[in-house]
Amino acid sequence: MGLFAGQLLGLEVPQANKRLITFIETDGCFADGVAVATGCWLGHRTLRLIDEGKVAATFVDSETSHAIRLAPSPQVRELARELCPNAKSRWHAQLEAYQVVSDEAFFVWQEIELHLNLDALISRPGIRVNCARCGEEILNEREVYTNGQPLCRSCAGESYFKVKSEAAWLSINLAEPSIICESH
Ligand SMILES: [Zn+2]
Repeated sequence: MGLFAGQLLGLEVPQANKRLITFIETDGCFADGVAVATGCWLGHRTLRLIDEGKVAATFVDSETSHAIRLAPSPQVRELARELCPNAKSRWHAQLEAYQVVSDEAFFVWQEIELHLNLDALISRPGIRVNCARCGEEILNEREVYTNGQPLCRSCAGESYFKVKSEAAWLSINLAEPSIICESH
């Protein structure tokens, strides 16, 4: 899927830069395969998970905003059975058939337009503010402004978790830290 997306967008993959942005629609081994094929990684901020539980992904050329979504053809499993009728199992049939089926027969693809703002999603490097309530640092303009104060999403009421205990942390006497880094 990642290789075919590169062809459709006219981009060389796996990429050595950050031009291609990929939105995968499920996690799991599929996600790692797409990352390896495209060179889009969470660590490069070029891979985003939109968890819809689907083996599908959208590939976006961030320079042109050209975006293509790919999913497996609804016929591909049946096609594997037809091509490999003597396979030991459905899994083996798919393993063999998927190596010879053309990209065009394997996938459904279409041009799409993103609802989300790609520039806002990417943001700019080095931008950081501290949450006015919890004090934690917020990167990439993910803060929410309430009464003019920057808040993290958790403090703004959009948290994915509920606090169960006091935060634990070791308070260090910064005037006399116990480990001294020696610079050379
Ligand atoms: Zn906060």
